[in-house]
Amino acid sequence: MKSEIRTTFDLMQACAKKLGGEDVILRMNGCAYEAYDGISYKSESGAIMIDMRSGLDDTASMRILLHELAHVALHVRKMPCTDVALLKPNSIKESLIVTDEVMREEDEANLLMKKWIEWARAYIDLFSDRFSGMENEEAIMWALTNYY
Ligand SMILES: [Zn+2]
Repeated sequence: MKSEIRTTFDLMQACAKKLGGEDVILRMNGCAYEAYDGISYKSESGAIMIDMRSGLDDTASMRILLHELAHVALHVRKMPCTDVALLKPNSIKESLIVTDEVMREEDEANLLMKKWIEWARAYIDLFSDRFSGMENEEAIMWALTNYY
């Protein structure tokens, strides 16, 4: 049974479970890596984690969530298990090393994020009555969560 969606965070969580799978745990308490607004990884117990900063504007929040969910959808098998879930926000000052493979995965994640957003925009245009009164980003996440 679907739990009730009352807040933006509820909607983000429901969207995460739809696109990334039921095992995704979304947290909005910031990132251990100071350089990033969002990261996805496997915890040492194997849980699929997405950590994001709170307080970003709606567009940035939605794009970061969908980008990280694209990593989950595309790259989960390659994700290393790490203990960063236990670290305080901003406690790691260095950025991750950007290899060619990391660059390729970033491009793949951005492509899938754009594909999801384009699909949602087309859907919202077709069935605009289902989205009356919703902000743009809310409508996109709602479309992906309920109709994708
Ligand atoms: Zn990325």
